[in-house]
Amino acid sequence: MYVIECLKNSDEPIFSLEITPPKKGKSIKGIFNTIDMLKEFHLNFINVTYHQQRVVFEEKNGVIKKIPKRKNVGTVGICSAILHKYGIETVSHIICGGFSKYDTEDALIDLNFLGIQNLLVIRGDPRQGEKGFNPEKDGHKYAFQLVKQINDMNHGKYLEDLENVNPTNFCIGVAGYPEKHFEAANMEQDLLNLKNKVDQGADYIITQMFFDVNKYKEFVKKARAVGITVPIIPGIKPFTRKRHLTILPTDFHISLPNDLVKGILKAKTKEAIREAGIEYTISICKELIEFGVPGIHFYSLGRGTDVRDVVKEIF
Ligand code: FAD
Repeated sequence: MYVIECLKNSDEPIFSLEITPPKKGKSIKGIFNTIDMLKEFHLNFINVTYHQQRVVFEEKNGVIKKIPKRKNVGTVGICSAILHKYGIETVSHIICGGFSKYDTEDALIDLNFLGIQNLLVIRGDPRQGEKGFNPEKDGHKYAFQLVKQINDMNHGKYLEDLENVNPTNFCIGVAGYPEKHFEAANMEQDLLNLKNKVDQGADYIITQMFFDVNKYKEFVKKARAVGITVPIIPGIKPFTRKRHLTILPTDFHISLPNDLVKGILKAKTKEAIREAGIEYTISICKELIEFGVPGIHFYSLGRGTDVRDVVKEIF
């Protein structure tokens, strides 16, 4: 089922999960264990992230060669494995980085043939070791351009003129940032850029993680004010470790509210920190549900037990 249909057909907030492909050489068992742990809570869909290849330079016989190195197992294979083993809908992340628009078209044709028709369309993080985001030659610089390419294919418009083509039927999600994307000049401009992604064909939005529900509420209010009408699903990461106090603001450009920080600093053991973090996460999920969110999307970041301990109190 398409995510957008799932959102429309459900009277209750839906539950979804984001997983990251394991490192190359690792097994898919960890992912299956996570799903086994969570499927009883009626998991509506599972997103699988996509990460751009690293590039390393190696010298051989005096010649320097640029070698692409993939760190993680392929997203599409994982989506397909989950779909076939569990029958749970998967959402493949597709990014601009590392793809020309011709590579993108080929990847989309493969996804369509495999029956993976839910996509989360994002620009992608800058390549490891590079400061800013650099698109490929003939690639997209912004997510809205990739959304447009996919929407064109949904209308039977491929990159070359083809006769009697079958239009694709992808359901398109995009990313939104309740605390502003870190590169955007200000919130107002970021929201206009978000609206552009919706105008180009996005069906719904999933947010970056946040820990202050008021930031989400304000974001939804402002998004509606600029004419964004699609569902906005909050993204939540269970807070469980002391190092999250520094890692989350650094890596995700978000802030942590004082009551959470104080509660974590007050807890003296690892167990007490985890308990305080999980309790806080449960409380914000309850507040979001009371607010009337269409669903909650959990960032598992490889820790299914953290998600389970929150979800069992919510769904
Ligand atoms: P865009 O929408 O392209 O926006 C990027 C920046 O450009 C923003 O500041 C925006 O305001 C600005 N902008 C947009 N249009 C214009 C314009 N016309 N002119 C000037 N500026 C413009 N990363 C991965 O590598 N893999 C993943 O699987 C992944 N999954 C994610 C899932 C979610 C739910 C979220 C929230 C993020 C995810 N990311 C992932 C991270 C994401 O790739 C980064 O946050 C990235 O920096 C921005 O992606 P975007 O799609 O929001 O970009």
